[in-house]
This record gives sequence, C-alpha cells and structure tokens, in this order.
Amino acid sequence: MILVIMGPPGAGKGTQASRLAAELGIPQVSTGELLREARRDGSEVGQRAAINMDAGTLVPDEVVMTLIERRLEQQDCGSGAILDGFPRTVAQAVQLDDMLERSGRQVDRVVSISVTEDEIVERILGRLTCGQCGAVYHRTTKPTAREGHCDLCGGLVSSRSDDNEEAVRIRLQTYSNLTAPVLDYYGGAGRLASVDGSGGLDEVFNRVQGAL
Ligand code: ADP
Ligand code: ZN
Repeated sequence: MILVIMGPPGAGKGTQASRLAAELGIPQVSTGELLREARRDGSEVGQRAAINMDAGTLVPDEVVMTLIERRLEQQDCGSGAILDGFPRTVAQAVQLDDMLERSGRQVDRVVSISVTEDEIVERILGRLTCGQCGAVYHRTTKPTAREGHCDLCGGLVSSRSDDNEEAVRIRLQTYSNLTAPVLDYYGGAGRLASVDGSGGLDEVFNRVQGAL
C-alpha cells in the first residue's frame, strides 16, 4: 500500500506519517529526511541540495526522484510505504505513477493536511529537530525532557537551518505555486482526502485515520 501525506511546511506531515507508519507497520519515507541524511553524510548530492533547502526552494526533481526510487527498492518497502514530503511537484507525481506502474503498484490514497498560515509560522519557528535521529520537538508545545537534548537518542536538538522566517516564507510560496497543483492532480483521479490539521496531535491523527 502506497500512501501519500501532503500539506504545507509545518502542517505536521512528518509527525502524522510516522504515527501512521507505526500503526500500519510500513515505513515512513520522507524526502526531506533523505536529503538531510545526504547532507549529514557530506555527499555531493547532499551539499548541492543544501543550497536549495536553506533557501526554502525545491531540490531539482531528478535528484529527488533518484533518492526516492532507490529508497522504494529497498526490502522494507516491499509491502508499501508512507510518503511524506513527496511528491512536491506535478512532474514528481507523474514520474511516481510511472515508476510504481512499472512494478505493478500505485498510489492508493493521498491525505492532505491543511493549516492556517499563522499556525504554520508559529509551529515552524518553535520547531526543534534532533541532529542525530531527526526526532521533532517544539519549544513550548513539545519540549525535550532535558534542555537541548533528544529524548530518544540524547543527540543535540536545534532549529533546522531552514526553519527561519525568511526561508519559511519562501517555502510557503513554493508550496502554493508548485505543490498545491499536485492536489488537483490527485483530486482529479479521486485519490485525495483532505483533513483539518488544527488542534492536537491525537485529534489530527484520528482525522487522518478516518480519511483512509
Ligand atoms: P517542510 O515540509 O517543513 O518544508 P521537509 O523536510 O519536507 O520540510 O523539506 C525540507 C526541504 O527539503 C524543502 O524545503 C526542500 O528544499 C527539500 N525537499 C524535500 N522534499 C522535496 C521534494 N519532494 N522535492 C524537492 N525538494 C524537496
Ligand atoms: Zn535523537
């Protein structure tokens, strides 16, 4: 089963996708996380992607398609995956359909999480991310138990390099220009469900489950 979780930056895609992955027993595949891993590795792909990421613009489709194709070929994706942060352009969505079709698979369901712009900015500017395992916290709504350290692995938590006001504004613009059209692409094919992303994590998770 291939599920796609969509939504603007800060909508809670990553959090909801990770819960869903635990619930359904299939891996969460986040292109943002794959790209951050490539950066941490210091690979050339990662270093080039870093420039786009920090500016709040998209990494080129070819780069992302290569990463996702390799990831979906791995054994743990044999019975499916929850895609988080991908596809982000109509071209990526079309290429994903082609790629899945070649292996007799398809996108089964797309869930779009919507939140207001004010809430997005509040969430993102308070967001703290573990540099070691990628776990996500929030300064006020979900602080770490020990200040500055991840509850899960003890790694250092900090604000992501693209979680500043300037980059957030550009990411929101990028979302409405390039990613929102992907919703129309899936809506036309009748695969799309939209859920309200406001409120607490449990509340939103119930809505996501209801939409599947
Ligand atoms: P957010 O949803 O909060 O913006 P992500 O972790 O999903 O965070 O993405 C962070 C950055 O990684 C994006 O701003 C973009 O530069 C890059 N990125 C992630 N996924 C894609 C994708 N599918 N296509 C192009 N760029 C991507
Ligand atoms: Zn951690």
